Amino acid sequence: MPPETDRTAANPGPLYHKPRLMTPGPTDVPPAVLEEMARPIIHHRTKQFQAIYAELSQRLQRIFRTSQPVLSLAGSGTTAFEAAQISLAVPGSTVLAVAAGKFGERWEDIFRQYAPFLNLNVQVMAVPWGQAANPAAIEAFLKQNADTSLVTVVHSETSTATACDLRAIAAVVGKSRSLLLADSITGLGALPVEMDAWGVDVLVTGSQKALMLPPGLGFIALGPRALARLKDTPAGPCYNLDLRRWLKSHEKNDVPFTPPVSLIRGQRVALEMIETEGLENVWARTARLAAASRAAFTAMKLKLISASPSDSVTGAFYPDGTEGAIDDSKFRAAMRAKYRIEIAGGQDGRGANWKGRIFRISHMGYVDAGDTLATLAALETELIAAGCAIKPGSALAAAAPLLR
Ligand SMILES: *Cc1c(COP(=O)(O)O)cnc(C)c1O
Repeated sequence: MPPETDRTAANPGPLYHKPRLMTPGPTDVPPAVLEEMARPIIHHRTKQFQAIYAELSQRLQRIFRTSQPVLSLAGSGTTAFEAAQISLAVPGSTVLAVAAGKFGERWEDIFRQYAPFLNLNVQVMAVPWGQAANPAAIEAFLKQNADTSLVTVVHSETSTATACDLRAIAAVVGKSRSLLLADSITGLGALPVEMDAWGVDVLVTGSQKALMLPPGLGFIALGPRALARLKDTPAGPCYNLDLRRWLKSHEKNDVPFTPPVSLIRGQRVALEMIETEGLENVWARTARLAAASRAAFTAMKLKLISASPSDSVTGAFYPDGTEGAIDDSKFRAAMRAKYRIEIAGGQDGRGANWKGRIFRISHMGYVDAGDTLATLAALETELIAAGCAIKPGSALAAAAPLLR
């Protein structure tokens, strides 16, 4: 998908095009946000920056549905999540990683990386890929392991296109001494999330999914029990990732280190757009696009990868074509070359090997019915070209009525 500026003699591309980034992160960024980020750089130790940061923080609180502080860290979602893990795990305690996909497994890996330094007993609750974490199993674990200080869950497991019942999980963890650290990186701004009402202790997201920004910012909201934990627990083996440092600056509408000023500015505008549309309306639009996509996939007789689908991303196993299994990289290259649509493939992990076997499309952020119908029509055309037995027009016949 060479953007205009990447055209070369060897890779000319058309003079006109409209690329569509339908991957579940990064996602397309609205023009108004791109324009805001093109403004001259301002210095960050100024009243002007502090005012922008303060407005961003307030908007983030409304999107997170919390009255608690929301920190903005430079880095990807993983940076923010790792910071929360290492800042909040109690040295010498048990930590539980609920792993239902690639991202849950990553949080397990991070715990293991720090385990020797923090003397952590790392426990894993492996959930079959495509299924949702079970609140009752987490409750039982916490009853048997009263020294657990932190539970990590993935609200919307992007690798398996699966959502769990975050509210129910927050309720069971809230009855224990453990904190709940939730990865809602493809949940927040796409699926309903009520941080305070549900009692989620720590909620993390990133800028490049539903929040309509390029990659580069991670956000961490800290509930009352998490704030108390930061006070009571010594800092971990880290410096930049120590949330105590970020929280201290945040209280003065500031950040400890030079922030990505352009991204902060852009995020303020993107959140303004979300609030103008109305957060509930954004949730409803996301759900509509997801329902239409699932209907189209089902009409094409595709097998969904999730038994408990997230509305932020839809995934299916490749069907067989005339020459057996469809070649994932060729299929996605054709989507890119013919339609300028970028879709995602699958990932390999400990719970499953889905690389080459599945494809996924996003419903998050700056995406509408037109983008979705175009993607579904292109998918159907290319699957038919690969020899799949699909009745032409069946995808749109199933999807369109749900988008009216
Ligand atoms: C994208 C994503 C992340 C973070 O990935 P980064 O590449 O570090 O931004 C974490 N969890 C989930 C569920 C994600 O979708």
